[in-house]
Amino acid sequence: MSTLTPLRVERGAYVSALDLFSVGIGPSSSHTVGPMRAGLRFRGMLAASGELAHVDRYEIVLHGSLAATGVGHGTPDAAIAGLRGLDPLTVDPGEVHGSWQLLDAGGEVRVDRVAVRRGDVQWEPRARDHGHPNAVTFRALGGGRVLEERTYLSVGGGFIRDKGEPARDSAPVGPLPHRFSSMSELLELCRAAGGDHPGEIARIARENELAQRTASGVDEGLDAVWRSMVECLERGLSTHGVLPGRLAVPRRAARAWAALVERGDAVAAPESLSVYAMAVNEENASGGRVVTAPTNGAAGVIPAVMYHALGGRSAARADVHRFLLTATTVGSIIKANASISGAEGGCQAEVGSACAMAAAGLTAVRGGTPLQIENAAEIAIEHHLGLTCDPVGGLVQIPCIERNAVAAATAVTAARLALLGDGRHVVGLDVAVETMRQTGRDMSHRYKETSEGGLAVNVVEC
Ligand code: SF4
Repeated sequence: MSTLTPLRVERGAYVSALDLFSVGIGPSSSHTVGPMRAGLRFRGMLAASGELAHVDRYEIVLHGSLAATGVGHGTPDAAIAGLRGLDPLTVDPGEVHGSWQLLDAGGEVRVDRVAVRRGDVQWEPRARDHGHPNAVTFRALGGGRVLEERTYLSVGGGFIRDKGEPARDSAPVGPLPHRFSSMSELLELCRAAGGDHPGEIARIARENELAQRTASGVDEGLDAVWRSMVECLERGLSTHGVLPGRLAVPRRAARAWAALVERGDAVAAPESLSVYAMAVNEENASGGRVVTAPTNGAAGVIPAVMYHALGGRSAARADVHRFLLTATTVGSIIKANASISGAEGGCQAEVGSACAMAAAGLTAVRGGTPLQIENAAEIAIEHHLGLTCDPVGGLVQIPCIERNAVAAATAVTAARLALLGDGRHVVGLDVAVETMRQTGRDMSHRYKETSEGGLAVNVVEC
């Protein structure tokens, strides 16, 4: 039996499914989507104060992990795109990428009428005093003075907050009908409703969603998330070529998929699960449109498990919604009590979280009780504890792409094991999450999205 006492957040943990699963661009939610949203927020502030028209120079300072692996993750491109007013939700990915390459070659990029040059982007990989390893400062200058300066923290999954702003773990609007900050509290809510029903957790999540949106807003939002996942996955299955970056990693999913089709059992083949995950992550690595689930680096696990288990693009709407809503509760609990950010907790926080969410969603769709759902999520987390983040070359490619493929298989195994039992288990999800938090805290910064340790330093780049 564990003797750990889980850290309990003081406020409700629930994050809306439509925030946790947001449509953005690759290759990274924390290093691409977050900085782009930060640039957009900064621009919005300048516009609101009337200063936008007076800017004659911008400076962007990347701190900590955003500086350490920023080039490979497209961070300067994303920050500049945000300043230009581009939104990751709607932008054509082709409009974002390439800015840094241009600046590095001595060129300039226009933000309205202001020219941004190489020296305007500054790098401070050792800076770790901003309250989070992912921080970016935007400075607007005009007439020889600083008009505005803001530092933003990119806290994982594309979420950002102003430096100094307290972490907000509860939903942004309105009181929620169901408040819980841990899995034990969520299970208590299920029990209080007399619920052993497999849809009980999803029902609670849905009622929390309905406090923030209309029923059609929730349903259509979840449909849009699933549609984006399917489009991304299927694009990955048919796109050949080489991924961007100096590693020149060949795309493998389309080739593997073609081989399965040739063999005549593509959909039924057990390997298809892994190929689906790789297809999504190759799309992400190429900077394409992707759904954070709950991050971009881990974006392949949930779509792969859903596509494989629910019948591909013709999956039943009820199954898709139950899967996503159940997964949302698990992701929310992890985000509130530990982290979903590789820069904060290592890859256990990214791929481990995605695996737990997928295991929970699949167990719910397969008829598991709330206790079995918890069991599945816990199994998935437990076997990712200690997993480091060490992307080779600072690119979200090696080990990330295969790691998603393996985690998808682990999620299915975790769900199957949980469904074989009666829900009783020794280690609770809350204890596993707290263990993840402590392990992430104790992990050297070299293994937290800095590319200063692990595979990142042992793989010889040709
Ligand atoms: S190793 Fe894991 S946490 Fe790190 S970039 Fe890759 S997927 Fe993300």
